[in-house]
Amino acid sequence: MTELRHVGDDGDEPRCAVCGGPAAGPCASCRRFVCGDCSVLTEGGVELWAICVRCDRRKGRSLRGGWGLVALWLVGLLVALALFAGASLWLLG
Ligand SMILES: [Zn+2]
Ligand SMILES: [Zn+2]
Repeated sequence: MTELRHVGDDGDEPRCAVCGGPAAGPCASCRRFVCGDCSVLTEGGVELWAICVRCDRRKGRSLRGGWGLVALWLVGLLVALALFAGASLWLLG
């Protein structure tokens, strides 16, 4: 009887969530294990974080979305001010 057993295939060894290779450490954002090739080092204040490429991409998207939200909020504020000014002018005659 022959039983093939590969070392590291029993699930004890952390695997990279992106490419499936041996992981170097957990992502600081989603806690999934990633290898050195699939992680990006980012500076968060004084500490150096390693996040996976997926979280890095998501962060870039959310940053742009955040700015879009700020622009939308500013436009909304201007419209509200204009309406308020118009309404007060109309009320004052
Ligand atoms: Zn990888
Ligand atoms: Zn991640």
